[in-house]
Amino acid sequence: MAEIAFRNVSKRYGDTVAVWDASFTVRDNEFFCFFGPPLSGKSTILRLVLGLEMPDAGEVLIGGRPVNRVSPTERNVAMVFQNLALFPHMSARENIRFPLVERRTPEVEIERKLADVAAKLHIGHILHKPPAQLSGGERQRVAIARALVRDPAAYLMDDPISALDARLREETRVELKRIQRELGKTLIYVTHDQEEAMSVADRMAILEQGAIRQVGTPLEIYDRPASTYVARLLGSPMMNILPLTGGAGEARIADGSIAVAGLALGDVAEVGLRPEDIRVSPWDQGGAGRPAKVYEVEPLGGYTVITLDAGAARVRAMVRGQPEIRPDTLVALSCEASRVHRFARNGSAISQPAETV
Ligand code: ADP
Ligand code: MG
Repeated sequence: MAEIAFRNVSKRYGDTVAVWDASFTVRDNEFFCFFGPPLSGKSTILRLVLGLEMPDAGEVLIGGRPVNRVSPTERNVAMVFQNLALFPHMSARENIRFPLVERRTPEVEIERKLADVAAKLHIGHILHKPPAQLSGGERQRVAIARALVRDPAAYLMDDPISALDARLREETRVELKRIQRELGKTLIYVTHDQEEAMSVADRMAILEQGAIRQVGTPLEIYDRPASTYVARLLGSPMMNILPLTGGAGEARIADGSIAVAGLALGDVAEVGLRPEDIRVSPWDQGGAGRPAKVYEVEPLGGYTVITLDAGAARVRAMVRGQPEIRPDTLVALSCEASRVHRFARNGSAISQPAETV
């Protein structure tokens, strides 16, 4: 069992709070992602799991066992570091073999594991090269391979593919997800890339300045962000977050620029509209909704991003395909009430009325 949990863990460096009162449970065999902006505490959490740091308060548990006083080697979790340290005088092959040779693994098994991991990470053709002759991306894959051949209770990866170019990153994250499923091992993964987090994670935790703001599956968090902070972090283009005005029974967003029928006001101070939930239709064809002026159009092939001036608000909408919409023309904007996210003055989400969930 390689369940990994924090119970009210805090860690400071001098006056800096790196992790604050963090509690979570990563389940056995789960691909769990920590996602947050730079300096939000992601790497510190991994170091606490690994045992390179001691918490100031709280308890770290691995497999249900408190490990605050257990040494890193005894914890048996394998880390792939952000700044990888491959042995420069060894070939990629020797680097990957190293942890197995060190553990006196039988030669047949070493070669079997090496061939297996080399095929999964597409590095069979570079195994003879020393790190100095590998590209950044290749070095990263060799380092991942070196962690994968061990048989630890869990893997930790700190932004392991950030140095790869975009295309290779897309490929590698698919491989990682596949490898994790095949290995059936707990994997804790850190990234600052929202798309990467959403694409790989079974569940994820969102961090803000060392505090965990929300834990859930990527789609739970995307569909029901707990705050404007979380809402802004996931999704591209970002969620439109607009002030709400108007009286009872008639909600108006950003001085009346988007009509949302049947939206109750209550304590709602701001509303969030995902770009894909905004309906855009030509104004001159009597489209339903309020008028907005098209500011710019980005045709991305499969979909089109339209930036609009809706009253005082700048709004971004994303529509399927390649609609005939031109800059500086008028369009009608609308959004179904059930797709509107509601936020209180302090930024926390107000849950949707039952009938719209
Ligand atoms: P992330 O990985 O999300 O970028 P980190 O865990 O590295 O965040 O850092 C969290 C906070 O802790 C930051 O404010 C960072 O400056 C601080 N911090 C991290 N490591 C140290 C350290 N060894 N000494 C002092 N401050 C640190
Ligand atoms: Mg980091």
